[in-house]
Amino acid sequence: GVAIVTLAPEVSAPVDPATAPWWLLGVAFFLSEGFVVLSRGRVSVVALSPHAASLGVALFLLDPAGLLVAQAAGVLVALAIAGGGARAALVRLGLVTGSGLAAIAVFLAFGQVAPLSGATGWVAAVVAVTVATAIESLLPRAWTRSTKPADSSLEPVPHLTRLTLLGAMASAGMSLVALELIRLHHPLQVLLLMLPFASCAAAVWATTSEHRRLVNLRTLADAIRRAHEAPGRDASILELLTAPLALVGADVAWIALLPRPGEEMMQVASIGPEGVSPLRECRLQRDRATGVLAETRREGPREVIGGAPADVLHSLLSDLGLKRAISVPLRSEDGVNGLLVVGNREAAIAGYRSEDLRLLETFAGSAGMMIENDRLERSVNDLQLLKNELRRQAYHDSLTSLPNRMLFAQNVAEALAAGQQTQPAVLFLDLDDFKTINDSLGHHAGDELLVAVAARVRSAVRSEDVPARLGGDEFAVLTRDGGMESAEHVANRLVAALESPFVIAGREMRVHASVGIAYGEPGVTTADELLRNADMAMYNAKNGGKGRHASYLPEMHTRARHRQELVAALTLAAEQDQIDVHYQPIVDLASGTMVAVEALARWDHPAQGMLHPSAFIPLAEETGLMGQIGHNVLREACARVASWQRSFHGMENLRINVNLAPSEISGSTLVDNVTAILDETGLPAGMLVLEITESGVMESPAEALTTMRALRALGVSLALDDFGTGHSSLAHLREFPIDTLKIAREFVVGLPDSPVDTAFFETIVRLGQSLGHAVVAEGIECAEQAAAVRQLGCGLAQGYYFGQPLAPVGLTYAFSASRRGDATLRVA
Ligand code: C2E
Ligand code: MG
Ligand code: MG
Repeated sequence: GVAIVTLAPEVSAPVDPATAPWWLLGVAFFLSEGFVVLSRGRVSVVALSPHAASLGVALFLLDPAGLLVAQAAGVLVALAIAGGGARAALVRLGLVTGSGLAAIAVFLAFGQVAPLSGATGWVAAVVAVTVATAIESLLPRAWTRSTKPADSSLEPVPHLTRLTLLGAMASAGMSLVALELIRLHHPLQVLLLMLPFASCAAAVWATTSEHRRLVNLRTLADAIRRAHEAPGRDASILELLTAPLALVGADVAWIALLPRPGEEMMQVASIGPEGVSPLRECRLQRDRATGVLAETRREGPREVIGGAPADVLHSLLSDLGLKRAISVPLRSEDGVNGLLVVGNREAAIAGYRSEDLRLLETFAGSAGMMIENDRLERSVNDLQLLKNELRRQAYHDSLTSLPNRMLFAQNVAEALAAGQQTQPAVLFLDLDDFKTINDSLGHHAGDELLVAVAARVRSAVRSEDVPARLGGDEFAVLTRDGGMESAEHVANRLVAALESPFVIAGREMRVHASVGIAYGEPGVTTADELLRNADMAMYNAKNGGKGRHASYLPEMHTRARHRQELVAALTLAAEQDQIDVHYQPIVDLASGTMVAVEALARWDHPAQGMLHPSAFIPLAEETGLMGQIGHNVLREACARVASWQRSFHGMENLRINVNLAPSEISGSTLVDNVTAILDETGLPAGMLVLEITESGVMESPAEALTTMRALRALGVSLALDDFGTGHSSLAHLREFPIDTLKIAREFVVGLPDSPVDTAFFETIVRLGQSLGHAVVAEGIECAEQAAAVRQLGCGLAQGYYFGQPLAPVGLTYAFSASRRGDATLRVA
């Protein structure tokens, strides 16, 4: 300012001969500033500006220094009375002074060209005032816009500029007319100008407020739309909070959402100069919460003025640091669902207008609805998520997260329905010896292994294949298309994927799988058939040696059907007790007498004739029929031997050996069954020998050991059958509480000629004896073998040479014959 004043000393005197005291114009500036304060800056932007008019007159009547002083004094007094903060007052003062300086500079610049007394002065004044107004009102706007580009509540600049500059020019024009009247010494006539000025101002006021209403409504609608479209609840609440700030020119907006049915706490969020605090659950003190509730029930918006904390809202206000606020309930169709508080920290605000309250009320209405809809939408979403999750759970295996049998079957059906051109195939994968791992390491380790296998299965299939866990250790893969080639490719990958060892429960182990493949013919094969065929092929793969894959062939089906028929017949046989028992003698080699008989099951199949155990015992184990059959055999054998003991002299100590299947040893009913049968048949416990195999014990060693001890506690003896054919015989030999060792036929076949067999046999006999066990040689077929085993120290023997397994009548006959004085007990 000083620079301009000193640079143009020749114009430091007023332009006009008609002068006015600076304070008079100071009053004019004071009044126009008061107008600005009252309208909170908004009117000056888009209406006739009294400030511009005053400036226009002052340019002619005051020297530059006087003008600046009058302007500063008027503005300062007005701001002081309004009581704004010092910082805001300084900014405003700077702005006003700056614009005053600019006006002077422009005005004087025109003066350099031509004397300012004529038309040049008019033009100069209009341009100067317009420039000043532009600086004063547009600069702060431009500033906000550049610092807050996202704040779209600001009106578009060109529109605003146009209005403001038009207003400034009109004001300048008015001031020129006033000036001419003063020059003509008609100062009172100036008052006449008040009329057009006032009506003009009123008209502009009306249009601008109409315009502002439209702008506000648009701002409001935009805010609601943005809130609705915002990604997530936090963002949408933020939008709802930002809009009212701009609408009423507030510093802080605070929102509280009342708890919905099923929710417990109120949620609050706020935005203010210190930033955004996103929606969070808020446990208000009880009286505060009820206060907020009461506040929300109020009819409409109300203005609260800080000060004495009379009610809840007042204390809330002081919490938020507000001097003045508007509180509006948020409404939805079902009533009030929240509270919006918008307020100012600066006391400069001359109160809100009724228009502000109405605006916020409209806004709160839409916001409340939006929040309600949003909540509904959210709960619908939640419901959908829950449904999806339930659906996922229903269709997926919980341990491995792979699709389960149901989903897999659906996929297979869809693949088969996809068209005649597709060539879907199902791969059925079953782990070899999973049961042994599960039983020996525990279910936890078993689960761990299944999860690891599932991961490898997943990694082995291609993205278009569907892997699944069908249950237990059974997995499956659907290859949707590509027929034989792609199915076999996947099968090879599956087998290979399982090749490297697993580390389960800290132990390294190898697990192999057998894979069966079946190809579907769209329109011909059903999903069920395809799965069953793959299952059959898998069994074939397993039987053909584990860890390989096999494809389904139609004859497998025939075989499977046979198997099914056999199972049906066996079920009937077991139920009707049609399993016969044959008896094979066990002889004492030293005396040549029969000391025991072994009970061997036989099934007289109606169509296939006499079946040996190998044809039906494994089947009975698999189908769960073994318990029934084993029980029948045991009862029958004990009863038979008890009766022989009673009937035949010299047979009082005849013992009976009965074989136990793995499921019987690991089952829980064996000890009770044995006790009951001994009781029922009257056979002394010491006369019963139960034969177990190593694999039978290994299925679940802990249970088996308990059972074995309990049996021995009854007085029953135990024999380890087929010794030498299991894979870790020696390790178990010491642990098992057994009385007798039965050496498998494999070690006898080569006797007496093979020196290796001889050496082995002798070693086993010594071993058994050293552990205090009786030793039985199985499968003696000729005299030489009998002599050899006897010579090698074995005390007992069994085999065709001494007697074939015979039906009970055969033995009864032999016993009677011996009583009649037949020379030998050899039954052969
Ligand atoms: P195992 O307990 O080792 O029974 C001996 C098997 O060897 C019997 O076969 C018997 O007929 C056969 N055998 C006896 N002497 C000779 C011989 O000199 N040479 C040859 N080559 N074989 C001989 P079988 O009756 O076919 O029984 C086979 C297996 O079935 C039995 O082996 C036994 O483990 C099982 N088994 C038989 N009956 C039952 C039963 O009631 N319950 C259970 N769980 N298993 C049974
Ligand atoms: Mg046996
Ligand atoms: Mg045996």
